[in-house]
Amino acid sequence: MTLHSFSPIQYIDDPALAASGVELNILRLDRFFPPISGNKYFKLKHNVDYARRHGYQRLLSFGGAYSNHIHALALAGRHYGFGTIGLIRGEQSMEANLNPTLQDAVDAGMDLHFLDRSQYRNKHDKDFVARLQAEFSDAFIIPEGGSNLLGVKGCMEIVGHIQHHLDDNYDLVIVPCGTAATLAGIAAALPDNKQVVGVAVLKNAQFLNDEVTAYLQQLGVAKDNWQILLDYHGGGYAKLNQSLAHFIQQFEQANTLQIEPVYTGKMFYGLYDQLIHSAQFKGKRIVAVHTGGLQGLRGIGDQLEKLQAKAVG
Ligand SMILES: *Cc1c(COP(=O)(O)O)cnc(C)c1O
Repeated sequence: MTLHSFSPIQYIDDPALAASGVELNILRLDRFFPPISGNKYFKLKHNVDYARRHGYQRLLSFGGAYSNHIHALALAGRHYGFGTIGLIRGEQSMEANLNPTLQDAVDAGMDLHFLDRSQYRNKHDKDFVARLQAEFSDAFIIPEGGSNLLGVKGCMEIVGHIQHHLDDNYDLVIVPCGTAATLAGIAAALPDNKQVVGVAVLKNAQFLNDEVTAYLQQLGVAKDNWQILLDYHGGGYAKLNQSLAHFIQQFEQANTLQIEPVYTGKMFYGLYDQLIHSAQFKGKRIVAVHTGGLQGLRGIGDQLEKLQAKAVG
């Protein structure tokens, strides 16, 4: 290690964890490559390489109005010298008064197009994608969330960073799951004696198990070192409740680090709940992946603070 190397590992010194024999380290991907925060840096990396090798001039993808992926894509485009096109779920009228996420994207050079809910639902449809490809012929089309096999391959590199800092001194990795592409990459790359646990942030997320199985098959690796906890979605994607809001407040105060309620908050909530109610994490050396996403607080922070104000009384 050189004098100037910044360690993205943060040890959590918590007597309650120590009492369960748990060692918790956080992999701070939120601070890893600041312009392109969190797991999105890894998900985009190989997509960007592929686009460059195949002569594309622009990158096109999909996302909601506060999408971490859209934000990362715009900044990645600027960083790596690509034009970017964002197809945003929302009404055209949003263009007149851009939210901070979309304003950042535009400032980074992204060209925005708005799709209403029924149009947006076609995002995976072959004909729709083919029409987009015809319209934006110089653009490499990346699925929502950066979740394709190239994205999974990039996420395999997350394990290299864990190993670099902790050697073999950990037992399991925990990560929030939206599409579970990040989890699939980690599962594929983990050494044999280690596990990865995902916390699904959306409701009815059983289908994620099939997604992970399919990714691993495509990579040609046979692994059963992973599982996804399905009960910590808190009501659905980007849905908040009082106990989640209260947990986040306590966790941030105790550990002087910032998390957000859509992904990392639900992961840590799930982890701490499991530490109380299940034996599976007892005595384990755990690496929790802080996947970033803090820019999204600009969309949901007010709602979170209101709930937290109530929680304290
Ligand atoms: C996109 C995102 C995730 C979800 O990653 P998947 O690979 O889709 O499971 C998790 N955390 C944050 C902060 C994200 O922005």
